[in-house]
Amino acid sequence: MLSAQLNTVFKHTPCTTGSKGVPARATVVRRTKSYAAYAVRKCGFSSGAQTVNNKKCRTRVIRSSGRVKVSCIAAPPAVKSVYFFSKGRSDGDASMKQVLGGKGANLAEMCKIGLSVPPGFTITTETCSKYHSSGGQLPDEVWEQMLEGLALTEEAFGAKLGDQENPLLLSVRSGAAISMPGMMDTVLNLGLNDEVVVGLSKKSGERFAYDSYRRFLDMFGDVVLGIPHELYEQQLEAVKVAKGVQDDNELDVEGLKEVVEAYKQVYVDQGTSFPLDPLDQMKAAASAVFNSWESDRAKVYREVEGITGLLGTAVTVQTMVFGNMGETSGTGVCFTRDPSTGEKILYGEYLINAQGEDVVAGIRTPEPIARLAETLPEAFASLCANNALLEEHYQDMQDIEFTVQDGTLYMLQCRSGKRTGAGAVRMAVEMVDEGLVDIPKAVTMVTPGHIDQLLHPQFEDESSYADSVLGTGLPASPGAAVGVVAFSASDAEECKAAGIPCILVRVETSPEDVGGMSAAEGVLTARGGMTSHAAVVARGWGKTCVSGCAGLQVNDAEQTFTLGGITVRAGEYISLNGNTGEVIVGKVPLIPPTISGDLGKFMSWVDDFRTLKVLANADTPEDAAVARANGAEGIGLIRSEHMFFSGEERIAAMRKMIMANTTETRKAALMEILPFQRDDFEGIFQAMDGFPVTVRLLDPPLHEFLPDGDLDEIAAEMAALTGATEDEVMDRMEALSEVNPMLGFRGCRLAITYPEIAEMQARAILEAACNAQAAGVVVQPDIMVPLIGTLQEFKHQEKIVRATAAQVFAEKGTSVPYRVGTMIEIPRAALMAAQIAESAEFFSFGTNDLTQMTFGYSRDDVGKFIPIYLHEGILKHDPFEVIDFDGVGQLISMATKNGRAARPGLKVGVCGEQGGEPLSVEFFNREKLDYVSCSPFRVPIARLAAAQAAIKAAGQ
Ligand code: PEP
Ligand code: MG
Repeated sequence: MLSAQLNTVFKHTPCTTGSKGVPARATVVRRTKSYAAYAVRKCGFSSGAQTVNNKKCRTRVIRSSGRVKVSCIAAPPAVKSVYFFSKGRSDGDASMKQVLGGKGANLAEMCKIGLSVPPGFTITTETCSKYHSSGGQLPDEVWEQMLEGLALTEEAFGAKLGDQENPLLLSVRSGAAISMPGMMDTVLNLGLNDEVVVGLSKKSGERFAYDSYRRFLDMFGDVVLGIPHELYEQQLEAVKVAKGVQDDNELDVEGLKEVVEAYKQVYVDQGTSFPLDPLDQMKAAASAVFNSWESDRAKVYREVEGITGLLGTAVTVQTMVFGNMGETSGTGVCFTRDPSTGEKILYGEYLINAQGEDVVAGIRTPEPIARLAETLPEAFASLCANNALLEEHYQDMQDIEFTVQDGTLYMLQCRSGKRTGAGAVRMAVEMVDEGLVDIPKAVTMVTPGHIDQLLHPQFEDESSYADSVLGTGLPASPGAAVGVVAFSASDAEECKAAGIPCILVRVETSPEDVGGMSAAEGVLTARGGMTSHAAVVARGWGKTCVSGCAGLQVNDAEQTFTLGGITVRAGEYISLNGNTGEVIVGKVPLIPPTISGDLGKFMSWVDDFRTLKVLANADTPEDAAVARANGAEGIGLIRSEHMFFSGEERIAAMRKMIMANTTETRKAALMEILPFQRDDFEGIFQAMDGFPVTVRLLDPPLHEFLPDGDLDEIAAEMAALTGATEDEVMDRMEALSEVNPMLGFRGCRLAITYPEIAEMQARAILEAACNAQAAGVVVQPDIMVPLIGTLQEFKHQEKIVRATAAQVFAEKGTSVPYRVGTMIEIPRAALMAAQIAESAEFFSFGTNDLTQMTFGYSRDDVGKFIPIYLHEGILKHDPFEVIDFDGVGQLISMATKNGRAARPGLKVGVCGEQGGEPLSVEFFNREKLDYVSCSPFRVPIARLAAAQAAIKAAGQ
């Protein structure tokens, strides 16, 4: 305790003896008590709590090793809410993203490593949470700390907020721990008023000063007070018309002064006034940024991105530097590598004589970054040097914002750059080759989402559509997308809800469009560069995007667009090639992707780290082949019933079985089904040579196999098929219909009622295995009983399987190794795991049903309320997507432990949908399951997630 206090004491700055000022913190160390008392007096403090010069202070006396130490410390704030930064000095660092947001933490880090960053301070994310929980109030102690941060900023930059001679202007920006580009608010040029603008005119020119002032009036009114931007635009237009000019920058000083007056009148007309005091402006702007955390668009973005668990946004208040001070100034954004392809080249854009927002908004077309080498060579050289330093420091590709003010480069932001899947994989592979990162680090640099992007289809033949290309835009986000044209975010969302793929076509996108962008297969815009809103968001999501398509004329009112002389209407198909920027009329055929090149190399590293095996859910030899190509180490689930849907003959045989009223007729129908099943199983054994193949016996309610439609028509069709009368068919259908089929006549209940079903299926599996083995294939069939809740159910089915196996082996004169195990998907089965494991040779958690029955949520009806539960924060994730760690997870954990205690070495896996979801894979890895099984296309994702889970677990 004492040493902790001493540490506190020694951290503080020594007080200058005799000083009557109030140091924020002061420590005096003296040998004796009397010296201490003297020092205390000299410092202007007396013992205990007191107020000096309006600051709350306290003194402490600590005795240690015969020394007396006295500290006079200005009472430290209960919580540090403001972190100052300037070149060479910063209170925070890159590890503090949760506290300072990504932007604040990285600004602090750049200052720490000595880069030229305009000074400022960051208000913590915790303040955002406090702000909202106190009904939108900025706490007093935070405001005091902001004033201290401002004083330090003024000192560091040598200018003062509100000073008429030497004014400091500020930017106020958001920045959460996870980047949410463009979703929250920003205020620029803060600190101007009628007097300061005069001072700024003297310092930086009248035109620049009044242009900055009118921009600030517009932005402050719009962002902070909610006055529509259009009202300012109308005033600007009116002055332009009166002055007879076309462009904003043609307005002279007098014109700009008129605009300023007109803008101030907008405030008055809206029943408010523009706050002249820069401190009031600063407080209101910080509050507005905190408010924007709860704006609809920010909430939608968090929902789409699955961003949860954050306290809020941080707010960074920073000295403004100006890229719009003439031809030696400029502003830009760049990436240290190409975020689309991963190539190691400087990639980005800049504008001379412009402010940062001009680049992102896509209003002026920016220049490629390489040209900066000619226009501002010194700044370009500094930028390249800084970029190299940052890549090495962060061991990752960086996304950078910079401004050049009168030839001097300032770094405004750096963060780990968003990238496409292809870019991520290439960067990871090349950074290992360059020696920048090691392989374990490289494996963590590619997200499962990146791999997912690469597993999306590509165009089958890029030369096939040459005659249908309407035009070419910028290849802003790669991939291939095909869909019907939608002109608004809401239309795109409607298409998605109706299951129709669509392409969102806009003049340019704004944060309001994110819902529609998420719903669309791809995005096409007429305006905007490679770093426009559309491009950045689409790349982050791995969505194909063609931006800045010159010549594209969008007519929202008519719901058409025209490009290359062709007019396309809403609802008509187009295709986008995000690799080339081509816009194609019609539907271009797509093909599945392959794992080769960099991806092949990367995936080969991945497998060295994981212990969790990855199997696939596949029902046909074709799916099994895809699964193997994607690296599946076996089949974890064949839903054997799916085999009946692939052909008229098969479904007809199945329907005869369902309609059968006697054991004989059912057996006869089953014998028709057997050859289909046997052939399919044989194909799957071949595709999975040497790997386990887990076949589940029939699971779904029988009426699912009957045709849809009008009852009389179905009855007529079934009567013709089976030879029964229509009345008999109706009776049978009525007998099969259930109030709650998901909890009804399904799973092992079917084959316990009709044992001949289990008999036929076991025969088909084992005959196929014997045949495959005879053809030289190494087979490992695992036969799985579905939906048991009791040991007796399992034993009933196991007995049939084993008896059938004995018969088949006798008939074939050979045998194959096989196991009989069970799905654990009813909570009672999980509870009885120890008992069940005495008979069952393996467990596979059917987490779809286990989630359904543990929560009591019908799998088929969750769409009505889960989105609301997620929105309200009642659920953090949809439990059918991400395993419910606390509840369902507890059952899995307990059943695994008890099952393995009863049968050491019991094989345990998962075959529900969560088996391919990265957070769930991490959980299953932690629980030491043997495998997860997921759809063939998700196998590489699960492999990477399993490797990352293992690396993380090893690190912990
Ligand atoms: C499950 O319930 O998790 C499962 C894999 O089975 P099905 O989805 O076929 O019910
Ligand atoms: Mg199930």
